[in-house]
Amino acid sequence: MNAPHPGHRIANALTIDVEDYFQVSAFARHIDRGDWDHIPCRVERNIDRVLELLSLSESKATFFTLGWLAERYPRIVRDIVANGHEIASHGQAHLRATDQSRTDFSEDIRRAKRVLEDVGGVEVRGYRAPSFSIGHGNLWAFDCIEEAGYRYSSSVYPVRHDHYGMPDSPRFPYRVRDGLLEIPVTTTRVLGRNLPAGGGGYFRLAPYQVSRWAIGRVNRVDRRPAIFYFHPWEIDPHQPRVVGVGAKTRFRHYLNLDRTEARLRQLMRDFHWDRVDRVFDLDAA
Ligand SMILES: [Zn+2]
Repeated sequence: MNAPHPGHRIANALTIDVEDYFQVSAFARHIDRGDWDHIPCRVERNIDRVLELLSLSESKATFFTLGWLAERYPRIVRDIVANGHEIASHGQAHLRATDQSRTDFSEDIRRAKRVLEDVGGVEVRGYRAPSFSIGHGNLWAFDCIEEAGYRYSSSVYPVRHDHYGMPDSPRFPYRVRDGLLEIPVTTTRVLGRNLPAGGGGYFRLAPYQVSRWAIGRVNRVDRRPAIFYFHPWEIDPHQPRVVGVGAKTRFRHYLNLDRTEARLRQLMRDFHWDRVDRVFDLDAA
């Protein structure tokens, strides 16, 4: 039997980065963007499954969606909105902020906002940079996000990681610009270090109980909502294998894909999940 729900009084924020398996940053060197249109997409089927999973547990979520996908698969955006979830932006073409000029970045996030609002028929207020690619070298990105009309960003994972992370930045939401809130992905603090507690590869790597403990701890000890994220391709063990990738990338991408859906189901049962804009009361802010 399960122990009593560790964080049942706090609404945590569930977020989903809507991109397909071949669009992840780790594969960017192996798959040409020009080929994206010719690769069979799995995202429609996977979003259907995610929506079903959320509806069974009566959870709500925020979907950081690529404009590229919204243009080609508008149905998924409409289904997300129709099911009561929040549509937010993951940029147009999954380019890391660190790989773009200020002008190109600005154009990318503005175009994504426009596309998602046209297709979804709702205002898009949130943005998440691909691969949490805002760091000390490109803080101008926050100016662009504010100027593009977004109200919040969730683009920092304050952990030490070889591809991303600003371990010294705040663990909890803060005003990064006058009109812009940064809502970082959740960490838990152990022995003076931030440990990842908000999903990603860590959720598939460590036993489920570690995530459950860490999120419960943020709710109980810090008395704060957690911000957790996953991708639709993480519940799709039958996705085509990308050939030629290195051992580390292969391990990170494919590890425990066949167990993730069951773990997420348990996570939905163990905690209360809602949209970012509601958990952080953006209407009142
Ligand atoms: Zn992404």
